[in-house]
Amino acid sequence: MTTKLGGKVALITGASSGIGEATALALSAEGADISLVARRTHRLESVAQTISANKGKSLTIAADITDPKEAMRAVNETKEHFGRLDILVNNAGIMLLGPIDGANIEDWQRMVNINIMGLMYCTHAALPIMKQQGEGHIINMSSVAGRIITGGSAVYNATKWYVNTFSEALRQEVYQDKIRVTSIEPGAVATELTDHITVPEVKDRIKKWIGSMRALTAKDIADTVVFAATQPPHVSINEILVRPTDQSL
Ligand code: NDP
Repeated sequence: MTTKLGGKVALITGASSGIGEATALALSAEGADISLVARRTHRLESVAQTISANKGKSLTIAADITDPKEAMRAVNETKEHFGRLDILVNNAGIMLLGPIDGANIEDWQRMVNINIMGLMYCTHAALPIMKQQGEGHIINMSSVAGRIITGGSAVYNATKWYVNTFSEALRQEVYQDKIRVTSIEPGAVATELTDHITVPEVKDRIKKWIGSMRALTAKDIADTVVFAATQPPHVSINEILVRPTDQSL
């Protein structure tokens, strides 16, 4: 069987569940060796076992990428183990929705630390390796929330807006090094993302909203990542917005 990513190495943050897990399996199915990064070791091990059962290769790295040293370690261990790093999927993120007035400030800090800082730390660590290789691909998980502003989603909106801003500036800085940059903007995807919302009525409302439609699956977005990652080297897919057919805004 021919695979499109044979010999390539992909590091996926947030690979322990949802879109990250599905992306790990999908990139592995295309022949890439996979570095699985997140905090929940037992969930990473389970993804690694599935990859191994399908004759793929993976490495699990338990790391909290809100710590720049941990992000650096995850990237460096990947390079040491597999010898290179071709694709970085900056997927780890949280969505702690709620109104600004009376918000739990810790929710804001957690979102900024993972959705923005974690993504930047991993990118910063990966760039020297990709530059030295003369090629690479950074795929950032943004959101439809990076395109459409909604009251009750201010800080999440801002973090995902930031992902798009950072992605385009990065693209302009590294395209001459043959490093491609892609921002993916999913609409509603059925994952654990909403479980972490700390305001009960907001959590309930969002879960009902997602349940009211035929939401995307994590695999739908993994397939989008594969589409971007398997283009020929001269094709750089910069931005993809994917909504469920049933989703309005
Ligand atoms: P999940 O909750 O299933 O996945 C989130 C992942 O992020 C988990 O693997 C979690 O792993 C990881 N993570 C969280 N904090 C950290 C940390 N400090 N260090 C390392 N890893 C961390 O949700 P999704 O799969 O839905 O979310 C993935 C991405 O997709 C997010 O960026 C989200 O914003 C984005 N997205 C999701 C949409 C949806 O509707 N589901 C829509 C649009 C975008 P662990 O807890 O083990 O560390």
